[in-house]
Amino acid sequence: MKENFNPQVGDIYNLMKEKPKGEEKTLIKKAFDFAESAHEGQFRSSGDPYFVHVFETAKNLARYEMDATTIAAGLLHDVMEDTEISAKEIEKEFGKEILGLLEGVTKLGKIKYRGEERHVESLRKFFVAVAKDFRVLVIKLADRLHNLKTLEYVKPEKQQRIALESLEVYAPLANRFGIGKLKGEIEDAAFPFAYPEEYKKTVKIFEEKSATSEKRLKKIDRDIKKLLSENDIKYLKIDYRVKHKYSLWKKIKRYKGDVERIYDIMALRVIVDSIEDCYRVLGLVHSKWTPLPGRIKDYIALPKPNGYQSLHTTIFTGDGEIAEIQIRTLEMHGRAEYGIASHFAYKERQNLKKKSRENKFNWVKEVAEKDEETKSHKDFLSTIKMDAFNDRIFVFTPKGSVIDLPEGSCSIDFAYAVHSDIGDKTSSAKVNGKMISIYEPLKSGDIVEIITNKKSHPTSKWLDHAKTTMAKKHINAYLKDNSLLQKFLSFGRK
Ligand code: MN
Repeated sequence: MKENFNPQVGDIYNLMKEKPKGEEKTLIKKAFDFAESAHEGQFRSSGDPYFVHVFETAKNLARYEMDATTIAAGLLHDVMEDTEISAKEIEKEFGKEILGLLEGVTKLGKIKYRGEERHVESLRKFFVAVAKDFRVLVIKLADRLHNLKTLEYVKPEKQQRIALESLEVYAPLANRFGIGKLKGEIEDAAFPFAYPEEYKKTVKIFEEKSATSEKRLKKIDRDIKKLLSENDIKYLKIDYRVKHKYSLWKKIKRYKGDVERIYDIMALRVIVDSIEDCYRVLGLVHSKWTPLPGRIKDYIALPKPNGYQSLHTTIFTGDGEIAEIQIRTLEMHGRAEYGIASHFAYKERQNLKKKSRENKFNWVKEVAEKDEETKSHKDFLSTIKMDAFNDRIFVFTPKGSVIDLPEGSCSIDFAYAVHSDIGDKTSSAKVNGKMISIYEPLKSGDIVEIITNKKSHPTSKWLDHAKTTMAKKHINAYLKDNSLLQKFLSFGRK
């Protein structure tokens, strides 16, 4: 247990990029007091008061430049689940918008991770579809980040499941929303629990390489500052970026353990005023140091699918060593670290409040349209558009696994999606605890239990109701085999 824990609402205000005033301040303070009293007497497995968790979640949201409403929802995100507080009370105290966010977060909390490839993809889609509002996702990510940071206090058998789920579902979501900083933090917090041996190896490599890297970069840092001032280029910031451990590990794997090929354990990051200055700095760097061929990347002209923009180059430092330099504007930097959250923060303050949430994604579309070559853009956009899954439904097995199906699917489709043997033997279905016809269409969020019977088998009526190709294929196969058998039997009788 941490000693003298004394959460102050001011800590949240201080982390916000724009200090809250008036209504915003009142809202956060009200949510802070409400959550503190609602969770009174509850404790985390770490021994901390439960309120620490929601307080830290809200601090994460403030760091990620979310607005006052989202921060308030972060403070309240566990009250409906873990205390006696009702939805009605939340609506009365905080209004429909916050209630909507809390309900979204609660829904997402009900899903269980199973770790199969197909399932993982459905889970990511499900998150986007169910969340509706991307702020729900960001709250869930901020919540998960704090849970990971206190994972050591959780039972060992749960640790690995949570860590793997974070790497495979949460981090890719943060990445798709362009929140690189949050992705990196989630991955690094989960890595030691998901792959302990690999983590130890990576830390060792990191320590060996980073000491020399840092010394080298310090010298380049001085040289670049001199170069820029000689050429009258104003820089806003020059600092080091240390590669996240998990992405370093992925790179080590990609290079089959050849650590010598990894040049970007640390990189120097130069932040300037304008795009024009970015290219000027690149020119100056190349006039002083020789660039490594094939490693100059212009993500300004050709942004990454998630909107990331920057110039990257790798140079020979002259002492037989190599270093990476990244050059970008402050706006690009904000986007790289905070993604949609940063866009949200900027635009929200420019009177976009009344317009639809779709606007938040316009920059993604703009960026994507610039580079139609990249195939993954299509996937990216279809994932990011909240209405992209209107033609899909997401239903659960009794154990909480999620199955995604086309709209209009019935229990027969569900049964075949779980397993073909279950499909063939389906006799009836329980949905949300009640028996329903196996032909009745399912709805998103339904919990479906298939009851099988050895004597059951597909009939032609099943074909009239099944929606998925998989179900139809199995039903047809059965009917075909069966009609041959019937013919054979009746032939034999003659
Ligand atoms: Mn929570």
